[in-house]
Amino acid sequence: MDKYSVQIPEKGRDKTQILEDLKGFGTEDANYKDGKTWSLVYYLGDEYNQFLKDAYGSYFSENGLNPMAFKSLKKFESEVIRMTASLLNGDDNVVGTMTSGGTESCLLAVKTYRDMARAKRPWIRNPEMIVPESIHVAFEKAAHYFGVKAVHAPLGKDFRVDVKAVKKLINRNTILLVGSAPAYPHGVVDPIEELSNLAIKKKLPLHVDSCVGGFMLPFVERLGYPVPRFDFRVPGVTSISADVHKYGFAAKGASTVVYRNMDYMKHQMFVFTNWPGGIFASPALLGTRPGGAMAAAWAAMNAMGMEGYMNNAREVMDTTKKLINGINNFPEFEVLGEPHMCVFAFKSVSKDLSIYAVADQMEERGWHIDRQQRPESMHAMVTPYHTEFADQYLSDLKESVEVVRSNPELAESGGAAMYGMISNIPLRGMIKKNVLQMMMDMYSAVPKMPDMNSSEDADDLATKAGMMFIKAKKKLIDKIDQYR
Ligand SMILES: *Cc1c(COP(=O)(O)O)cnc(C)c1O
Repeated sequence: MDKYSVQIPEKGRDKTQILEDLKGFGTEDANYKDGKTWSLVYYLGDEYNQFLKDAYGSYFSENGLNPMAFKSLKKFESEVIRMTASLLNGDDNVVGTMTSGGTESCLLAVKTYRDMARAKRPWIRNPEMIVPESIHVAFEKAAHYFGVKAVHAPLGKDFRVDVKAVKKLINRNTILLVGSAPAYPHGVVDPIEELSNLAIKKKLPLHVDSCVGGFMLPFVERLGYPVPRFDFRVPGVTSISADVHKYGFAAKGASTVVYRNMDYMKHQMFVFTNWPGGIFASPALLGTRPGGAMAAAWAAMNAMGMEGYMNNAREVMDTTKKLINGINNFPEFEVLGEPHMCVFAFKSVSKDLSIYAVADQMEERGWHIDRQQRPESMHAMVTPYHTEFADQYLSDLKESVEVVRSNPELAESGGAAMYGMISNIPLRGMIKKNVLQMMMDMYSAVPKMPDMNSSEDADDLATKAGMMFIKAKKKLIDKIDQYR
C-alpha cells in the first residue's frame, strides 16, 4: 500500500507562509462575498465579521464544559437564553441551553422527550414522534440515533403539515409532535396553533423547530407582516430550537434549545457519578464547548439590538418579495406555498423546462444553487446581503431559462441528468447505497470528490438502476412462480 502522502511535517513551517497558503485554498469555494450563495453562509460584510472574530477570539481558549470554571461563559449562555426566551415570548420559567448548532438543538429535543417518556410512560417500548414530511433532516438523524421512530405526516397543498393527518397518526406509542416555523425546504410555517390544540388534547409535548426562523419571524411580525403564531404564546408549545448562527448573525457554532420550564429540560441533562475522572454532569451533547462561540453569540445579540434585527428583517422581507415577485412573473415558474419570510423554493410548471437544467445554467453564471426534490425545485435563503444582488439573480435566471428553452437537451446532460436521476429513481435503497459510497470515497485516505456535473456518473447510475430493476423484477417473477 502507498504511504500516506500527507503527514505532519517533520519541522514546523513558517506561520506567515501557512496563513498565505490558507487564503489560497479558498479560491474555488462557493462565493458568498459576491452574494452568490443562497444557503450555508449568513454574511453581513467584513467589518461585522471582524467584530465577531474579535468577540470569538476574546474567549478563544475558554471551555464551556464546566460552567463553574468559566463563569464568564455561563453568563453568556444564561443571557443568550434569557434574550432568546423573551424574544420568543416566554416567561421566567423558560429555560434552555446553548448548543453547537441547529442539529444539536433538534437532537437534544428528541432525546429529552424520549427520556421524559421513559420516566413518565415507561411501558412504551417503541416510541414514535410525528413529524411533517418537510421537517429538517436533523430529526431523521435524531430518530436514527435515539431509537425514536419518525412517523411522517403529509403536507397539504400549501406545503404546511396536514393536522388532520397528524391526528390520525397519533397512537399509544406517540411521545412527541413536531412542527416547523418555518420549514427549511419551502419556507412556510406549519399550523402551530392547531398542532398545539391537538398536543394539549392528547397530552403530548410539542417541539417547534424554529432554527432558521427563530431570529427572523419575531422581527417580521414587529414590522407588521402577518406571521402565524409559533412561539411560547401558543400554549401547547413545550420547546423551541432557534439558531443564533443563522439570522442571529453570530459566529458558527451557536444555537439554542429552550423549554417552557425545567420539568422538560431536566430530561435533557446527563449526570454520571462513577467515572474515575470525577462526577460528570453535562447539559447538552458536547463535552468541550467552545467559549468563543458563546461569546460571539452574546456579542452579536448585543451589537444588533432589536433595532438592528428589525432593519435586517425589513431588508430580507423586501428582497424576498422582490425575488418572489420576479420569479412568479416567469410563466414557467411557481413559488411553493406562502407566505414566505426569508426562505422559499420554486419549481417549473412547464413540462419542457427542467428546473435542474436551469440550476446548471445558474451555476455556469457563478451562483451556488441548492436543488430540492419532491417536487424538483430551486431553493433560496435570503439575507440582507442579497439586497444588491437580487436584480442580477433575476436577470441571470431569465438568461438561464432562455438557454434551456433553446437547448432542451440540457435536461439530459450534466448536473441536470444527475440530480434528475437521483430524485426520480424509485429504488431509494440504491440511491442510498450510491450516496454512501460517495461519502466513503470522499472520506477515504485519498479523498475522491464526486463530480455532480458528470453525465457519465449519471449514466452509470442509470445503468445500475436498470440492472437492479431487472433483478428485482426477476426475483418477483421467481416468487410468483413459487406460488403457482
Ligand atoms: C438549519 C436548520 C436546522 C439545522 O441546523 P444546523 O445549524 O445546520 O445544524 C434545523 N432545522 C431547521 C428548520 C433549519 O433551517
